[in-house]
Amino acid sequence: MSRWKCGIEGCDGRFEDVESAVIHQTVEHERHECKVCGTIVPEGYFAIRHAFDEHTRAEFVRAYDADSSAVRIREDVKDAVEADADLNSVVETLREQGAL
Ligand SMILES: [Zn+2]
Ligand SMILES: [Zn+2]
Repeated sequence: MSRWKCGIEGCDGRFEDVESAVIHQTVEHERHECKVCGTIVPEGYFAIRHAFDEHTRAEFVRAYDADSSAVRIREDVKDAVEADADLNSVVETLREQGAL
């Protein structure tokens, strides 16, 4: 049973490890334009990390017309990824592929 799913709308990609899921999100999906500041970021985990590291929860809620449960879901995803992923190796792999 694959533990990680991509989770991006319309995608049913499933992965054995979280690193593969994040790499998939970054390489296979269109980039996301941040609705708060307009920065283009990879879709998926990196988009969530950008939103919550660079902006306040209030800015996120306003720009995305989100509610507190939408924020909590994303915080849970971010925590789960960061607890499990070797993000340094993910970033290194993506750089080697020219995806970051
Ligand atoms: Zn996907
Ligand atoms: Zn932004």
